[in-house]
Amino acid sequence: MSLVVVGSMAFDQIETPFGKTDKIIGGAGTFIAWCASNFTGIKQISVVGGDFPQSELDILTARGVELEGVQIKKDEKTFFWSGRYHMDMNTRDTLVTELNVLGDFKPVVPESYQDCEFLMLGNLAPSVQSSVIEQLKTKPKLIVIDTMNFWMDIALDDLKHTLSLVDVLMVNDSEARQLSGDYSLVRAAQKISAMGPKFIIIKKGEHGALLFHKDQVFSAPALPLEEVFDPTGAGDTFAGGFIAHLAKTKDISFENMKTAIIVGSAMASFAVEKFGTERLRTLTKEEIHERIHQFVQLSSFDINLV
Ligand code: AMP
Repeated sequence: MSLVVVGSMAFDQIETPFGKTDKIIGGAGTFIAWCASNFTGIKQISVVGGDFPQSELDILTARGVELEGVQIKKDEKTFFWSGRYHMDMNTRDTLVTELNVLGDFKPVVPESYQDCEFLMLGNLAPSVQSSVIEQLKTKPKLIVIDTMNFWMDIALDDLKHTLSLVDVLMVNDSEARQLSGDYSLVRAAQKISAMGPKFIIIKKGEHGALLFHKDQVFSAPALPLEEVFDPTGAGDTFAGGFIAHLAKTKDISFENMKTAIIVGSAMASFAVEKFGTERLRTLTKEEIHERIHQFVQLSSFDINLV
């Protein structure tokens, strides 16, 4: 039984008010893998070009990330994305998107991935995401999908089809409003739930995240950080922590999803401390435990009503 992750593996170039990187390793699938591999083994599905460093693939393998489902197109270039953050560090402009190998990506699920119990669909074209679901002979115990406004703008019908096949949707607040056409996040979650996913996670950046399921709601805080250095990949890292906790504990109850959201939030709070995946590369188990404990402290209180 396993956790299968689908997502982009990329080169990113990032500009923030604090500085600018050269081409560095990025991609939603990469962030998910770096994060989730702290908790459990992973089977990765992606595509890279011949320019993607073998050393990066080797280091992921050493962390327990299986790469049989990662296609290497030797004569082509890896997906490239470049973005510039505004002063508030919440909004960014995409400067360049070169799809390269991602342009005609047709994921192939290897036979050895057919034991998939948990499936994490990172942000990609909805038709690519659904093709992975449709290649699995047995429906996984839980399918989680991340998506973005871009796909709502250009591939809404595909996205609706994919949503009808999944259990958990992760989006940010403005995307939840766009998808549902409703400003109220409570009503937005109800409307999205009617499209398929019975659990809706709405991320609110520095204001934390909400989990909706039927008439239950959980609100998770975000850690007030002194400095956010680079928010790239925070959402993917959150997704990695969330699904990895569920896969490790094999418990998909609402109660355990609350814990999974805290794990995801704690991991995302590390990701923003340095450029790209840099901070995730040096994380220790002790640091992770301490950060999760900080989250527990952040919103725990006693009340004695008289
Ligand atoms: P996030 O900050 O969570 O939105 O994720 C940023 C990561 O997503 C970057 O590392 C990019 O390489 C990757 N990315 C950006 N645009 C796309 C896209 N259209 N498809 C797949 N991955 C993307």
